[in-house]
Amino acid sequence: MDNLLIIGGSDAGISAALRAREVAPSCSVTVMLADDYPNYSICGLPFFLSGEIPDWRALAHRTREELLRQGIRLLPDHKATAVRPEEKIVVVSSSSGGKTLSYDRLILATGAASRKPGHIKGLDTPGVFFLRWMADSFAIAQHIERNTPTSALIIGNGYIGMEMADALTRRGLAVTLVGHSQHVLKTVDPTLGRLVLAELERNSVRVASGVDVEEIGVRDGRLMAIGSGGFQAQVDLVLVATGAEPEVGLAKSGKVPLGYGGAIKVNRRMETGVPGIFAAGDCVETWHRLLEKSLYLPLGTTAHKQGRIAGENALGGRKEYAGTLGTQVLKLFDLAIARTGLNDAEARLEGFSPLTVETECWDHKNYYPGAHRLHIRVTGDRTTGYLLGAQIIGHWQTGVAKRIDVFATAIFNRMKVEEVEQLDLSYTPPLSNPWDPVQMSAEAWCRTAYQ
Ligand SMILES: Cc1cc2nc3c(=O)[nH]c(=O)nc-3n(C[C@H](O)[C@H](O)[C@H](O)COP(=O)(O)OP(=O)(O)OC[C@H]3O[C@@H](n4cnc5c(N)ncnc54)[C@H](O)[C@@H]3O)c2cc1C
Repeated sequence: MDNLLIIGGSDAGISAALRAREVAPSCSVTVMLADDYPNYSICGLPFFLSGEIPDWRALAHRTREELLRQGIRLLPDHKATAVRPEEKIVVVSSSSGGKTLSYDRLILATGAASRKPGHIKGLDTPGVFFLRWMADSFAIAQHIERNTPTSALIIGNGYIGMEMADALTRRGLAVTLVGHSQHVLKTVDPTLGRLVLAELERNSVRVASGVDVEEIGVRDGRLMAIGSGGFQAQVDLVLVATGAEPEVGLAKSGKVPLGYGGAIKVNRRMETGVPGIFAAGDCVETWHRLLEKSLYLPLGTTAHKQGRIAGENALGGRKEYAGTLGTQVLKLFDLAIARTGLNDAEARLEGFSPLTVETECWDHKNYYPGAHRLHIRVTGDRTTGYLLGAQIIGHWQTGVAKRIDVFATAIFNRMKVEEVEQLDLSYTPPLSNPWDPVQMSAEAWCRTAYQ
């Protein structure tokens, strides 16, 4: 095998290329990508748009030169339009014309695209944006600079909607956040969702939940959005942040079988159903470690790991993806909000006997300045005592992310809640308590479960 072709130059594709070069330094590795921004952190786009990261170039995980130094051949502005596995070629269109590229092994890392809700009329109205690619963020930045909008509507109250509500507020826009679901950020339970709502309102974000936006048009030179229940908003910018869908057009052209949620079906070695073709990242279904089945959970953390495995296995390796727990965290104004594993409702649907206990405690000894309250929800199985999931909300400088990672590590290693309580965790008064909040919440769960 001497010719590895990778389609997609973001988290999964570049991770695959770097790993392939480590495993086989003599192998020819080519990465083709539809745009001109290889290896950029799209997770950083909200922080570029907020102005916190003034120069978009800073979002590059690695520069183009660094990638070239690693021996990776880059083909930016090359869009693959079809895969022909029987001939082992990919059909490409680029600014210099059409061509075909041959391969010995192929990795599909085509990612995802913003979901465009079909029922909303007027999504192509000027001033309506999506956020997925560098080009999307440049279009939004340009609109803000040229037209100095004073108000924005964000459709979608998931994590990208939250990050952008924060970002556009920082840019001085009056933000309205509208969402389909009854409470904001439904990745956490409603009791924590209420704290998220309070943080949005504290920062003057107008929130409308349980509203279905039906139409966007222009009235008196401004954008007008109309939705269910008499919802109306007249604004200068609309951002549609209603989720992502796996980008699988190319896979379909090569008859690569699809699986959960229409994503590319892969096994844990990141092999697709077509010999010689691997896939990784937001375009594939993802093995859930706790549920032992595949779901669609597109995250940057997952894309990096799967990419490395695809890169190694495409060159003959036998590595298996260990699985996701859906661990995630986001920063919203002064809050950090995190979750891992399953919540109560998800666990019940999967046949567990969940018990969820919420605890509130100080993040560190409150005689030391700067202590904040943390809200932690622990979900465990009543029958077996195993930890199933956790959610945490608190001030963003109170170690929320690292504490959710302790829970994630415990679930990853199939620990019981009572074992979490006994972990040997660190302590100094400015940073924790003799019993860390993770342990206090595990202890509260055990007290409720075993009383
Ligand atoms: C605003 C935002 C914030 C996010 N924040 C976080 C976060 O904080 N934490 C987290 O874990 N995740 C976050 N994510 C998700 C994370 O960015 C994605 O999971 C990750 O980028 C997926 O990487 P990928 O390589 O699979 O796909 P993508 O990043 O989608 O890249 C796909 C690549 O394929 C190329 N491509 C597609 N089709 C073709 C074609 N036909 N021909 C050639 N090239 C093609 C594209 O040009 C691109 O290079 C965020 C996403 C967004 C949009």
